[in-house]
Amino acid sequence: MLYLIPTPIGNLEDITLRAIRILGEVDLILAEDTRTSGKLLKHFNIETPLRSYHAHNEHQTTDSVIDMLQNGQTLALISDAGTPGISDPGFMLVRACHQSNVKVECLPGPTALVPALVASGLPSDKFFFEGFLPHKKGRRTRLNYLSTLSYTFILYESPFRLVKCLKQLAEVCGIDRTACVCRELSKLHEEVKTGSLEELIAHFDVEKRVKGEIVVVVGGIQD
Ligand code: SAM
Repeated sequence: MLYLIPTPIGNLEDITLRAIRILGEVDLILAEDTRTSGKLLKHFNIETPLRSYHAHNEHQTTDSVIDMLQNGQTLALISDAGTPGISDPGFMLVRACHQSNVKVECLPGPTALVPALVASGLPSDKFFFEGFLPHKKGRRTRLNYLSTLSYTFILYESPFRLVKCLKQLAEVCGIDRTACVCRELSKLHEEVKTGSLEELIAHFDVEKRVKGEIVVVVGGIQD
């Protein structure tokens, strides 16, 4: 059995009681970064062994993980933050589990996109999750596509590229399109700023470098 276990995106109180229990009960925890996850597990007094499972060894490791699961071990997969498989490794292992008849369960829990969407005040009845845009090749094509959507879309973006991203969005969507920048969700310096792309550019394009983790939520074409 494989469990996918969401972990906090900032505030450690956001881990669920069930996540703590299962992390303590499984035979092995697969973690994107064993150092980062080691600190989290220590905080909750969880002593389960950790093994590295990340984007760079996903292909090579999947077969040996499937072997362990088929031999009756119970494993948990966690990422550095949020829900595994959401802009993080996970999908490949889950697909391999389905193909090998291994039971998979994903616990509900923290992820950055849901609080960003709901806090943005933009329509949340229907939405599109883009995740990270390509940095170079294909970026413009994705932006052009997103600009035509009639419902809210969500991007993950690095603080260093935020202003560039907002300016590119303004080029394809127009400066009046409503959007929201969610920064440092669930953390001490959380900021949720909604406005037109023009207003957001003015707010964030200041001399000081933007810091923290960021989700950009953009309204659909007629919102
Ligand atoms: N698996 C995670 C999830 O379920 O949301 C996403 C992992 S992805 C590698 C990391 C990105 O998620 C960050 O670059 C940022 O865009 C977003 N993110 C994570 N934590 C955040 C936070 N506390 N506030 C805002 N955005 C966050």
